[in-house]
Amino acid sequence: MPMPDPLPSIPTAPTTVPIEIICFNCGKRPDELFEYSPESTGSNLSAVDYVIAEEGTLNRANGHFCCTGCYIRLGQPTAPAPGWTAP
Ligand SMILES: [Zn+2]
Repeated sequence: MPMPDPLPSIPTAPTTVPIEIICFNCGKRPDELFEYSPESTGSNLSAVDYVIAEEGTLNRANGHFCCTGCYIRLGQPTAPAPGWTAP
């Protein structure tokens, strides 16, 4: 009795779309900004992971955050809880 053909594998959509973590204003990535480096934060997280874990301005829908320099240049925007996030 011949072996049945294996069923074709059904492609599955990725459950999360990779997004680029980037300062919405200056376009820099966390690893380009010293303030998020492990040397600066004292954390064992990478710069990107640190922003994901700790950066309050991170917009989790699009990956945009606001680095400290831009945040100050923008006049330190605030918003009611849960707080201001980058557009
Ligand atoms: Zn910036």
